[in-house]
Amino acid sequence: MKKLIILGSTGSIGTQALDIARANPDKYTIVGLAAGSNAELLEKQAREFGVKAVALFDTKAADELKIKLADTNIKVFCGADGVCELAMLDCDVVLNAIVGIAGLRPTLCAIDAGHTIALANKETLVTGGEIVNRKLKEKGVELLPVDSEHSAIFQSLQGAPKGSLKKILLTASGGPFFGKTREELQNVTVKEALAHPNWSMGAKITIDSASLMNKGLEVIEAVHLFGVPASQIEVLVHRQSILHSAVELSDGAVIAQLGTPDMKLPIQYALTYPGRDMCFEQLDLFKVGSLTFERPDCGTFKLLPLCIEAINHGGLYPTAINGANEESVKLFLEGKIKFLQIAELNEKAMNLCENKKDFTVEDIFAADEAARQIVRKAVL
Ligand code: NAD
Ligand code: MG
Repeated sequence: MKKLIILGSTGSIGTQALDIARANPDKYTIVGLAAGSNAELLEKQAREFGVKAVALFDTKAADELKIKLADTNIKVFCGADGVCELAMLDCDVVLNAIVGIAGLRPTLCAIDAGHTIALANKETLVTGGEIVNRKLKEKGVELLPVDSEHSAIFQSLQGAPKGSLKKILLTASGGPFFGKTREELQNVTVKEALAHPNWSMGAKITIDSASLMNKGLEVIEAVHLFGVPASQIEVLVHRQSILHSAVELSDGAVIAQLGTPDMKLPIQYALTYPGRDMCFEQLDLFKVGSLTFERPDCGTFKLLPLCIEAINHGGLYPTAINGANEESVKLFLEGKIKFLQIAELNEKAMNLCENKKDFTVEDIFAADEAARQIVRKAVL
């Protein structure tokens, strides 16, 4: 039995992780669950899986949950500190599926507690990659990627000799706006941006997929996970989302992982690694027919080259563009800015970043807040 803690259990990745646990009751025990503010669903999940503890970031919702769970022995933690406390409870693996930089501290706490991390929360590595990697080494803790592309790269590297990785081939679906010009993107709606052709995901990452910010964040994530510079990462638009990414090795061999566009496989692999388990959905290559690859349009989708610029500058630049993006995506979803303004605002905030080379977690949160303020001031 593997003891799991799932952070972000009410979201897209979190609920799929619970589907895996539900299908394998003999393999997983859920020790703890955490979410942002959805007390109703968290209560249901807590009762179904008989967890020891839960946490809600929103303190008002946590108070409600305490009342709802009063007839049980389930402990309710609250606030950002409560989520961190939950992440440190006794377990084998912490799956971090929180959205945004809010996932950084819980990851650090789980590493401190010596837990293996299954990481979906890419913002953890985008903002705190250097600090996380140092801590993993110090504590001898393993971090396994859940993001489908990074899981594919990780799977493709199994058995590859150390030092043989020459290039990462990071695939992108291209999102709902593939092939559109800047002119055509002027007035796209929230609904259109949320209509991803291949993947069903949370709102924030879906908008990031439409703007290619998601691919930019994933280049930064790959730099930290696999220890290669951005210059050794090539982004390929692959409209079918079947080849989830590949590696090119020193002898020219290209090794890839293919599968249906379903997050259950990468989530499960992070939970069973190095083992493999049940299949949720079989890939039928005859049905797929053909796989195509194209270069991304970096002139129209500027956030991809901007993220590469951010990681090449290093320091707090990735935090600045990530923080600005979290804020501008929120404003776009609220209908307060247009789609193309996301990139404009992110670029502005990144250019105003006061960089530091040796930075602390506090510096990261200060840079995040500064970038968010630049976005808010430019709009409101
Ligand atoms: P989502 O919006 O569906 O779910 C986010 C979860 O985080 C929810 O449970 C929410 O309650 C919780 N949450 C939000 N703020 C919180 C806080 N401050 N403290 C604690 N919990 C909080 O998002 P998602 O699509 O599941 O994505 C989660 C993460 O996984 C993101 O970093 C995303 O980039 C990454 N990811 C998602 C997918 C996907 O298919 N959905 C694929 C690859 C990577
Ligand atoms: Mg991905």
